[in-house]
Amino acid sequence: MTLIDTLNRPLRDLRISVTDRCNFRCVYCMPKEIFGPDYQFLRRDQILTFEEIERLARIFVSHGVRKIRLTGGEPLVRRDFPQLISMLSTIPDLDLTLTTNGALLARQARALKDAGLKRITVSLDSLDNKIFKSMNDVDFAVESVLEGIEAAASVGLSPIKVNMVVKRGLNEESILPMARFFKEKGHILRFIEYMDVGHSNGWRMDDVVPAAEIIKMINAEMPVEPLDPNYRGEVAERWRYKDGQGEIGVIASVTQAFCSTCNRARLSAEGSLYTCLFAVKGHDFRDMMRNGATDEELSNEVARIWGKRGDRYSELRSENTVSLPKVEMSHIGG
Ligand code: SAM
Ligand code: SF4
Ligand code: SF4
Repeated sequence: MTLIDTLNRPLRDLRISVTDRCNFRCVYCMPKEIFGPDYQFLRRDQILTFEEIERLARIFVSHGVRKIRLTGGEPLVRRDFPQLISMLSTIPDLDLTLTTNGALLARQARALKDAGLKRITVSLDSLDNKIFKSMNDVDFAVESVLEGIEAAASVGLSPIKVNMVVKRGLNEESILPMARFFKEKGHILRFIEYMDVGHSNGWRMDDVVPAAEIIKMINAEMPVEPLDPNYRGEVAERWRYKDGQGEIGVIASVTQAFCSTCNRARLSAEGSLYTCLFAVKGHDFRDMMRNGATDEELSNEVARIWGKRGDRYSELRSENTVSLPKVEMSHIGG
């Protein structure tokens, strides 16, 4: 049964954060000044168990969700994570995928594939170690992420997408080297405009490199042409290299808001449902489940929440909205 919100958008896509912890401290996501040694991460009993995640996932699928992306924090730091994949990969008619920083991918790629994962997205912001380390802020080397990508490719996870957040003055010079490298490798590189998520990353509009500028830069060296979306509501705008050697994507959430087709819900690690990446407040499902709610009650609650959804933050973004309180990206997973 398809659910429709107040702006006529169906619920199709669910992102599930499996942990709020991460082994990186990306400056645009979990800056060290805030996520330092004293930061209070969720306790184990506060986060959803795999059984609770699977139960909710099935309820969302019964409401029309066709794609689930597991994210975090860093999903691969969650203990026994491939076990969750094996539980979710048995759900019929579901495109199951995962976004990771790649740090632990070389050692987990085989287990993920064996558990039933088909494809994967790996984040990487530069091929230059100096720039990459200044962005992940934990001295993690590019080569190790590339090893993870290689391992994923060699076990047959396909397609592999690579996410690069572009921040003005930080990694613009990495755009062309990244495009050349992943064109050669045959993986789909996607450029993400730096967003004002949470309230800890000190976002300013001047820090955003517009997607149109990125495409122009690439087109000047490696000509590209636009491609149709794979499906309605796809966030990445697709471009194909004119020489037939692959494609790239841009996610222009700041300069070309796509709220009008946004069919995405987000479940945080502690089981709160958010109907927008920029939501202030979530709806708690963990306590409902732990207090004995039936599947029917949970299902009705999903329907009630989606039915009154009217979020369109990116279309309304302005200097004033930037300072509003919001949930952190590492909390609900981007
Ligand atoms: N740790 C995993 C990773 O980095 O791939 C998964 C979680 S991360 C929050 C999901 C995606 O959000 C990553 O591709 C990351 O680069 C992106 N992201 C984080 N902060 C962002 C920001 N301020 N603007 C745009 N994208 C951001
Ligand atoms: Fe961690 Fe991903 Fe956020 Fe970087 S973007 S700090 S890897 S959760
Ligand atoms: Fe969807 Fe909210 Fe992003 Fe708009 S701002 S595209 S409603 S998540």
